[in-house]
Amino acid sequence: MRTLFYPGSFDPPTLGHMDILAKALRLADRVVIGIGVNPGKTPLFTAQERQDMLLALASPQAEVAGGVLEVVIYEGLTIEAARQMGASGLVRGLRNARDYDEEMQLAGMNAQLAPDLPTLFLPAMPHLQPISASLVRQVVLMGGDVTPFVPSLVAQRLREKLA
Ligand code: ADP
Repeated sequence: MRTLFYPGSFDPPTLGHMDILAKALRLADRVVIGIGVNPGKTPLFTAQERQDMLLALASPQAEVAGGVLEVVIYEGLTIEAARQMGASGLVRGLRNARDYDEEMQLAGMNAQLAPDLPTLFLPAMPHLQPISASLVRQVVLMGGDVTPFVPSLVAQRLREKLA
Protein backbone atom coordinates (compact mmCIF):
# COMPACT_ATOMS: atom_id res chain seq x y z
CA MET A 1 0.00 0.00 0.00
CA ARG A 2 1.47 3.35 -1.10
CA THR A 3 1.15 6.12 1.44
CA LEU A 4 1.63 9.85 0.85
CA PHE A 5 2.16 12.23 3.76
CA TYR A 6 0.57 15.68 3.33
CA PRO A 7 2.08 18.06 5.91
CA GLY A 8 0.95 21.59 6.72
CA SER A 9 -0.55 23.92 9.31
CA PHE A 10 -4.14 23.83 7.99
CA ASP A 11 -5.09 26.78 10.22
CA PRO A 12 -7.79 26.69 8.92
CA PRO A 13 -8.26 24.11 6.14
CA THR A 14 -9.09 25.89 2.85
CA LEU A 15 -10.55 24.86 -0.51
CA GLY A 16 -6.95 24.86 -1.80
CA HIS A 17 -5.93 22.26 0.78
CA MET A 18 -8.98 20.13 0.00
CA ASP A 19 -8.19 20.14 -3.74
CA ILE A 20 -4.60 18.98 -3.17
CA LEU A 21 -5.91 16.31 -0.84
CA ALA A 22 -8.46 15.04 -3.37
CA LYS A 23 -5.65 14.71 -5.92
CA ALA A 24 -3.32 12.96 -3.49
CA LEU A 25 -6.11 10.47 -2.80
CA ARG A 26 -6.24 9.66 -6.51
CA LEU A 27 -2.50 8.99 -6.57
CA ALA A 28 -1.99 6.95 -3.39
CA ASP A 29 -3.82 4.16 -1.58
CA ARG A 30 -3.44 5.91 1.74
CA VAL A 31 -2.98 9.61 2.53
CA VAL A 32 -1.91 10.80 5.97
CA ILE A 33 -2.50 14.48 6.65
CA GLY A 34 0.10 15.72 9.14
CA ILE A 35 -0.83 18.78 11.17
CA GLY A 36 2.52 20.27 12.10
CA VAL A 37 2.57 21.93 15.50
CA ASN A 38 5.04 24.74 16.07
CA PRO A 39 5.30 25.35 19.83
CA GLY A 40 6.42 28.96 19.19
CA LYS A 41 3.24 29.94 17.33
CA THR A 42 -0.26 30.59 18.63
CA PRO A 43 -2.72 29.14 16.11
CA LEU A 44 -6.31 30.28 15.56
CA PHE A 45 -7.62 26.69 15.87
CA THR A 46 -6.09 24.11 18.23
CA ALA A 47 -4.45 21.15 16.54
CA GLN A 48 -7.33 18.99 17.81
CA GLU A 49 -9.92 21.34 16.26
CA ARG A 50 -8.04 21.24 12.94
CA GLN A 51 -7.85 17.44 13.13
CA ASP A 52 -11.62 17.22 13.73
CA MET A 53 -12.40 19.54 10.80
CA LEU A 54 -10.02 17.73 8.42
CA LEU A 55 -11.43 14.33 9.35
CA ALA A 56 -15.00 15.53 8.81
CA LEU A 57 -14.10 17.14 5.47
CA ALA A 58 -11.72 14.58 4.07
CA SER A 59 -13.36 11.28 5.04
CA PRO A 60 -16.06 11.63 2.34
CA GLN A 61 -13.35 12.49 -0.21
CA ALA A 62 -11.42 9.35 0.76
CA GLU A 63 -14.56 7.25 0.44
CA VAL A 64 -15.19 8.57 -3.08
CA ALA A 65 -11.59 7.87 -4.06
CA GLY A 66 -11.63 4.43 -2.42
CA GLY A 67 -8.56 5.33 -0.36
CA VAL A 68 -7.57 5.36 3.29
CA LEU A 69 -7.30 8.68 5.08
CA GLU A 70 -5.70 9.49 8.43
CA VAL A 71 -5.07 12.80 10.16
CA VAL A 72 -2.24 13.02 12.67
CA ILE A 73 -0.73 15.81 14.75
CA TYR A 74 3.06 16.00 14.91
CA GLU A 75 5.88 18.07 16.33
CA GLY A 76 9.40 18.10 14.99
CA LEU A 77 10.73 17.05 11.63
CA THR A 78 8.22 16.35 8.88
CA ILE A 79 10.38 13.54 7.47
CA GLU A 80 10.38 11.76 10.83
CA ALA A 81 6.60 11.99 11.10
CA ALA A 82 6.26 10.78 7.50
CA ARG A 83 8.55 7.81 8.17
CA GLN A 84 6.66 6.92 11.33
CA MET A 85 3.46 6.80 9.30
CA GLY A 86 5.06 4.50 6.72
CA ALA A 87 4.91 7.07 3.90
CA SER A 88 6.77 6.62 0.63
CA GLY A 89 6.67 10.33 -0.19
CA LEU A 90 5.48 13.82 0.75
CA VAL A 91 2.86 15.95 -1.03
CA ARG A 92 2.93 19.74 -1.22
CA GLY A 93 0.83 22.19 -3.21
CA LEU A 94 2.38 24.90 -5.37
CA ARG A 95 0.51 28.16 -5.90
CA ASN A 96 3.02 30.59 -7.33
CA ALA A 97 6.69 31.46 -7.80
CA ARG A 98 7.10 32.27 -4.12
CA ASP A 99 5.82 28.83 -3.10
CA TYR A 100 8.11 27.34 -5.74
CA ASP A 101 11.22 29.00 -4.29
CA GLU A 102 10.39 28.11 -0.70
CA GLU A 103 9.19 24.61 -1.47
CA MET A 104 12.18 23.75 -3.66
CA GLN A 105 14.49 24.69 -0.83
CA LEU A 106 12.51 22.67 1.70
CA ALA A 107 12.28 19.69 -0.66
CA GLY A 108 16.01 19.95 -1.38
CA MET A 109 16.94 19.77 2.28
CA ASN A 110 14.45 17.01 2.94
CA ALA A 111 15.86 15.06 -0.01
CA GLN A 112 19.30 15.15 1.58
CA LEU A 113 17.98 14.22 5.02
CA ALA A 114 15.65 11.52 3.68
CA PRO A 115 16.49 10.38 0.12
CA ASP A 116 13.85 7.66 0.52
CA LEU A 117 11.04 10.26 0.81
CA PRO A 118 10.61 12.17 -2.45
CA THR A 119 8.43 15.30 -2.48
CA LEU A 120 5.59 15.38 -4.97
CA PHE A 121 4.42 18.88 -5.99
CA LEU A 122 0.85 19.33 -7.17
CA PRO A 123 -0.15 22.59 -8.86
CA ALA A 124 -2.96 24.68 -7.36
CA MET A 125 -6.08 24.96 -9.50
CA PRO A 126 -6.09 28.44 -11.10
CA HIS A 127 -9.22 29.60 -9.22
CA LEU A 128 -7.80 28.36 -5.88
CA GLN A 129 -4.33 29.78 -6.42
CA PRO A 130 -4.88 33.04 -4.47
CA ILE A 131 -6.19 31.27 -1.35
CA SER A 132 -3.98 31.07 1.72
CA ALA A 133 -4.88 30.16 5.29
CA SER A 134 -3.12 33.25 6.64
CA LEU A 135 -5.15 35.59 4.39
CA VAL A 136 -8.33 33.73 5.38
CA ARG A 137 -7.45 34.40 9.04
CA GLN A 138 -6.88 38.11 8.31
CA VAL A 139 -10.14 38.48 6.37
CA VAL A 140 -12.08 36.77 9.18
CA LEU A 141 -10.53 38.89 11.91
CA MET A 142 -11.51 42.02 9.95
CA GLY A 143 -15.10 40.81 9.63
CA GLY A 144 -14.96 39.80 5.95
CA ASP A 145 -16.77 36.94 4.23
CA VAL A 146 -14.57 33.88 3.65
CA THR A 147 -17.21 31.59 2.17
CA PRO A 148 -15.52 31.64 -1.29
CA PHE A 149 -12.28 30.32 0.20
CA VAL A 150 -13.10 27.60 2.74
CA PRO A 151 -15.47 24.61 3.01
CA SER A 152 -18.80 25.59 4.61
CA LEU A 153 -17.98 23.61 7.76
CA VAL A 154 -14.85 25.73 8.23
CA ALA A 155 -16.78 28.97 7.62
CA GLN A 156 -19.20 27.85 10.33
CA ARG A 157 -16.38 27.01 12.79
CA LEU A 158 -14.79 30.40 12.07
CA ARG A 159 -18.06 32.15 12.90
CA GLU A 160 -18.35 30.14 16.16
CA LYS A 161 -14.73 30.92 17.05
CA LEU A 162 -15.23 34.67 16.67
CA ALA A 163 -18.70 34.81 18.25
P1 ADP B 1 2.50 25.52 5.75
O1 ADP B 1 2.35 26.37 6.97
O2 ADP B 1 3.35 24.30 5.94
O3 ADP B 1 2.79 26.27 4.46
P2 ADP B 1 -0.23 25.38 4.92
O4 ADP B 1 -1.32 24.83 5.75
O5 ADP B 1 -0.27 26.86 4.65
O6 ADP B 1 1.07 24.89 5.60
O7 ADP B 1 -0.19 24.62 3.51
C1 ADP B 1 0.00 23.24 3.45
C2 ADP B 1 0.22 22.84 2.02
O8 ADP B 1 -0.93 23.14 1.24
C3 ADP B 1 1.38 23.54 1.32
O9 ADP B 1 2.01 22.62 0.46
C4 ADP B 1 0.72 24.61 0.54
O10 ADP B 1 1.49 24.98 -0.61
C5 ADP B 1 -0.56 23.92 0.12
N1 ADP B 1 -1.59 24.91 -0.16
C6 ADP B 1 -2.03 25.90 0.62
N2 ADP B 1 -2.98 26.63 0.01
C7 ADP B 1 -3.14 26.09 -1.23
C8 ADP B 1 -3.95 26.40 -2.37
N3 ADP B 1 -4.76 27.46 -2.36
N4 ADP B 1 -3.85 25.62 -3.46
C9 ADP B 1 -2.99 24.58 -3.48
N5 ADP B 1 -2.18 24.23 -2.44
C10 ADP B 1 -2.24 24.98 -1.34
